[in-house]
Amino acid sequence: AASAAARLDLDGNPIAPLTICMIGAGGFIGSHLCEKLMAETAHVVYAVDVYCDKIRHLVDPAPPHLHGRISFHRLNIKNDSRLEGLIKMADLTINLAAICTPADYNTRPLDTIYSNFIDALPVVKYCSENNKRLIHFSTCEVYGKTIGSFLPTDHPLRKEPEFYVLKEDESPCIFGPIVKQRWSYACAKQLIERLIFAEGAENGLEFTIVRPFNWIGPRMDFIPGVDGPSEGVPRVLACFSNNLLRREPLKLVDGGQSQRTFVYIKDAIEAVHLMIENPARANGQIFNVGNPNNEVTVRQLAEMMTEVYANVSGEPPLDEPMIDVSSKQFYGEGYDDSDKRIPDMTIINKQLGWNPKTPLKDLLETTLTYQHKTYKEAIKRQMSQASAS
Ligand code: NAD
Ligand code: UDP
Repeated sequence: AASAAARLDLDGNPIAPLTICMIGAGGFIGSHLCEKLMAETAHVVYAVDVYCDKIRHLVDPAPPHLHGRISFHRLNIKNDSRLEGLIKMADLTINLAAICTPADYNTRPLDTIYSNFIDALPVVKYCSENNKRLIHFSTCEVYGKTIGSFLPTDHPLRKEPEFYVLKEDESPCIFGPIVKQRWSYACAKQLIERLIFAEGAENGLEFTIVRPFNWIGPRMDFIPGVDGPSEGVPRVLACFSNNLLRREPLKLVDGGQSQRTFVYIKDAIEAVHLMIENPARANGQIFNVGNPNNEVTVRQLAEMMTEVYANVSGEPPLDEPMIDVSSKQFYGEGYDDSDKRIPDMTIINKQLGWNPKTPLKDLLETTLTYQHKTYKEAIKRQMSQASAS
């Protein structure tokens, strides 16, 4: 801790220890951010969430060396008067709380809109009224579909970066019609971004907005029937992991032609760490955080995960490792998709000097090794019980 106090920011100034109110700290990103802050800094964290399974090792109870550094506050920000007190006691608030799994956007659009817009309002208001800094988690989905996606499939302009690269301060936000309820999430996130931006412009709120581009790694979401509901549909990493662990074919939605760029959670957490400790460079900014070099179609992701999982588990792949499903079958009415997501890295590069490092193959190896170790035995037990009964 003594050496942590002497650390310097990007401009060579010593970093003062901060008190951080982290809302949604018990989730995937929150758990990695808590670990990072505990391991490498002297900052104090109030970890706010409705559950703490993913940070139990840090808070229940806190290990002796972390005493006074991290505390867990089990509260629902929808309806808990303790929230304002925690924000007032902190120097910085980081809001990660959200419903953010696509399977919910079209099936639970009200919960999605309330969670991503209404429930975030008091957080913004308390920060603004008390002159506290806010780092708010938005999403790359605010860009919606690419401009190029409206051109015919073989149109040459589709290959031009201006038709697909997503820039924080230039690209439009392009969503489908209201009946495609998939966009309820993106639209709620867009409006909270606009509100935060306006609080900055009119009331001087010091804010940073983060747009994650498919951050993935250990502890993401849940494995249905093991540490989440058996009918639940998590994001693609956990869906495909679940299929591989159970030796079922991976399901490709609408042909698996959509493209994504995946970034390793530990690379992305480095970027958040820089934002926390360099307010002068991060305030007033919206940052894409992703890895433009790790682009694949969903089908290619399925192929890579199948190959990597065979290596880490020693189990040969199935003869037919993938099957096609329609989005209507898989997600239900009102699903729609983002076609392609390449983050422009100019702003984060210039402001924070951050670049992603880990190639997709490497991050899949680490992550699937973790999935295999964490879940394989539980799934074997469950499957043998099911076949015995
Ligand atoms: P996550 O679901 O693992 O974490 C969200 C956490 O917020 C959960 O632990 C949940 O319990 C908590 N939470 C939700 N509502 C709450 C409430 N009312 N009160 C208290 N706690 C509440 O998701 P994540 O991947 O860690 O995402 C964090 C943020 O980043 C979200 O805002 C999400 O929209 C955004 N994001 C993430 C990604 C990604 O690639 N992982 C991509 C785009 C956007
Ligand atoms: N997807 C799929 N099979 C699955 C789960 C997801 O083909 O079992 C697709 C989904 O339709 C989307 C992509 O994978 O095109 C990424 O989905 P994810 O849930 O991770 O979130 P998104 O990137 O769309 O926000």
